[in-house]
Amino acid sequence: MKTGHTPGPWVLDNRTDKRIGLKVRAPAIATASAPCPAVATIHTTPRSRYEARANGRLIAQAPDLLEVARLARAVLEEYRRKAGHKCLSTNCDCVWCQLGTVIAKAEWQEDQP
Ligand SMILES: [Zn+2]
Repeated sequence: MKTGHTPGPWVLDNRTDKRIGLKVRAPAIATASAPCPAVATIHTTPRSRYEARANGRLIAQAPDLLEVARLARAVLEEYRRKAGHKCLSTNCDCVWCQLGTVIAKAEWQEDQP
């Protein structure tokens, strides 16, 4: 599926210099001049070092989490179709609708209207 984001997998770079922050890298788009380009930098402070690393791990999993969300929504869609289920509200908070909302937010591209 075409997305606007850098292709995964993304990895948290454990070798990153503390002065410049932690890097989340995308090895799938490596080139000769950029062997493992960064897609995100997480700035750290001594107080939040562990939190920053946890944030980096979460960011690094974003492409995989998005893919799992798509798969889960597709499975739920099949169950909904077989059961003839329809959401009754535009503000529905069922899991299928919540997955649709987070997927749409993740897939939103700036060139879209
Ligand atoms: Zn719903």
